[in-house]
Amino acid sequence: MCRHLGWLGRPRSLAELTLEPPHGLLVQSYAPRRQRHGLLNADGWGAGFFDGSVPRRWRSAAPLWGDTSFASVAPALSSGCVVAAVRSATVGMPIEASAAAPFTDGRWLLSHNGVVNTAVLPTCAGAESVCDSAILAATIFERGMASLGDVITQIGAADPRARLNILAANGSRMLATTWGDTLSMLHSAEGVVLASEPYDDDPRWVDIPDRHLVDAHDGEVSVTPLEGSR
Ligand code: GLN
Repeated sequence: MCRHLGWLGRPRSLAELTLEPPHGLLVQSYAPRRQRHGLLNADGWGAGFFDGSVPRRWRSAAPLWGDTSFASVAPALSSGCVVAAVRSATVGMPIEASAAAPFTDGRWLLSHNGVVNTAVLPTCAGAESVCDSAILAATIFERGMASLGDVITQIGAADPRARLNILAANGSRMLATTWGDTLSMLHSAEGVVLASEPYDDDPRWVDIPDRHLVDAHDGEVSVTPLEGSR
């Protein structure tokens, strides 16, 4: 399972969000604290952010810990909406930059923590890679982000072994699902962080229960059960 992180709030640098926290994505790439599947996340990484309404991405198939170019530039890249991830490839999936989250349709940035049997997904033009997560992202984009909860519930029913933690944002809204893996939230006056696991030991982190949908916008956050929740 990969680990992902999203931020919606005042502008913050990619370094502040991913590299500097004591248990941020950089440390999670080699020493995650709550990972249930896989030991480390060495199969690539991606950092996406909104520049106005334009999503921009930097992705790689190499481990985040070795990327001195990203470490050099990340302090200078700031945004009020960020989606980033480190990847542990599912067996059989290609290790290539185009298989690393975040994926995009030009409006949203989307990351998937988990695994899905692609046989249950419709054939979808426009997937960035043959990786299950890329095909799932294309399916979600095609169905429309407004139906994210329904799409996850349906795919979860079609593939009972699927793990479907999604994190997506469009610059002014951030959505996430929990379906088989961990997700934590830190909501403050400055904004909302959603992360596969807390990046520090701030006591304000809360765990999102399994099979829920998180919807953050305009400083408000709702957490609602998905259909079929246990
Ligand atoms: N199945 C996806 C991949 O192979 C995501 C894996 C994960 O969450 N570790 O990249």
